[in-house]
Amino acid sequence: MKVKKKHSICIIGGGVTGIATALYLLKKGNRNINVSIIEKENQIGGLLCDHHSNSEWFFHNCQYLSTTQEWVKLLPQNLLFCFPHYYYSYTDLWNQTSVLNGFAFPVFDNQLKSLKINGNNSYESLHERLAAYPDEIALGLHEWVAHLGLDSRKLHHSSAVPLQIARVYPQKYMHDVAVYKEKNLVANELYGVPRSLRNDSFPLASLPICGYNRFFERIESDILNLGGVFFKGAQVIPNKCIDDWKMPTDLSMQNIDHLIWTASPTALIRKCENEKLNSLYMSMQNIVFQCSANISYKPFYIQVYSKSSFITRIFYYDKKITVECTANSRPSSTKDECQLILNRFFKDIQIESSGIAYNEKRYSIISCEDFRLLNSVTNKYNSDEQGIVMCSPWVEFGRDAKIDYLLKLIDKRNI
Ligand SMILES: Cc1cc2nc3c(=O)[nH]c(=O)nc-3n(C[C@H](O)[C@H](O)[C@H](O)COP(=O)(O)OP(=O)(O)OC[C@H]3O[C@@H](n4cnc5c(N)ncnc54)[C@H](O)[C@@H]3O)c2cc1C
Repeated sequence: MKVKKKHSICIIGGGVTGIATALYLLKKGNRNINVSIIEKENQIGGLLCDHHSNSEWFFHNCQYLSTTQEWVKLLPQNLLFCFPHYYYSYTDLWNQTSVLNGFAFPVFDNQLKSLKINGNNSYESLHERLAAYPDEIALGLHEWVAHLGLDSRKLHHSSAVPLQIARVYPQKYMHDVAVYKEKNLVANELYGVPRSLRNDSFPLASLPICGYNRFFERIESDILNLGGVFFKGAQVIPNKCIDDWKMPTDLSMQNIDHLIWTASPTALIRKCENEKLNSLYMSMQNIVFQCSANISYKPFYIQVYSKSSFITRIFYYDKKITVECTANSRPSSTKDECQLILNRFFKDIQIESSGIAYNEKRYSIISCEDFRLLNSVTNKYNSDEQGIVMCSPWVEFGRDAKIDYLLKLIDKRNI
């Protein structure tokens, strides 16, 4: 009897996108597939990996998992804890300080000549997007983006999402904003209202109980038990002709039916498309602190929009704090600034340690040229049903959108 050859799928990148894709394929119940994962580092987890210092672990940025997404249900649920998704805004961009509960974007607390948005939504750059706000609002946002050392004319307008300035709440116009949002699509895209004024149900979020590194160790053993194979500390070197790609030993390109590229697109685009990405990034610093509190607070974060500080976000969990700021901040002054901001919301949280800083190049922002190039490469590979290579929708920022897209593509291709 002739044994049917197994379908061989190779996933490049062991971040959450690659891992969720592997789990999906392995749990689908198709026994006729082989799944291998190639990860450049010696551990999986990518951007979600924790920071370790003095035998303590700290979350790297504020990366909550949704509790409702189907792909999250593929992960070990008993290692996750759920909590109400609390967030706050601290804004001093418009000559006064505004604090607000249930809103994670800038709050504008001054008078306006008119709420009206300038023009239509045909903006391409972030600069054009911000210029669509009434001048009084636009000025403060332009100044803040420059204060972070960014050139808003180069950035694609979708960078408003990772910069967390996709919406603004003009607080003095509470009812008018709600009405205007309903009447005008662009206004709906640019203005937001705090949770207290929306009828949404209160969402939950989740985080791994013992940090992401332990969580990914467990996922790795689940994948091995399901028959998946890892190549860690290994890289794929792509080439114009797919047969010339350099794979880790034991993996031959000739035997691979599908190759799913979830890692950084730089090498693929340089080698296969002969194009170079601008690869804009922000030089960030994360400073981690221990703190004390009388009450056992659930995790929360405060989005910070400040012209007098380089802090962009404060993330609290389990008596630990991760402060994100631009790389020019000093841990000692950041500690005092962070304490002052915290005091506006919680009187009893006290930062106790002196803070440990580590730097990060954050590639979440994107230039207008890269946006076009990445979109066209994604479309080229993913619409070619006979092709071997599929890739992440790189221009998407959020992991839910990235992972959902890939899982749908896998279903469409009947893998
Ligand atoms: C500060 C911050 C906050 C965020 N907050 C949210 C949020 O609240 N909600 C949300 O949905 N998203 C958020 N995101 C975005 C989210 O983190 C990413 O979309 C997601 O984690 C990306 O996962 P990934 O697996 O696609 O990429 P990565 O985590 O970057 O993983 C890619 C992996 O590929 C490996 N690799 C790279 N090159 C190669 C190669 N040539 N060969 C093999 N392996 C390679 C890398 O080592 C890495 O492990 C946030 C991002 C940041 C920076």
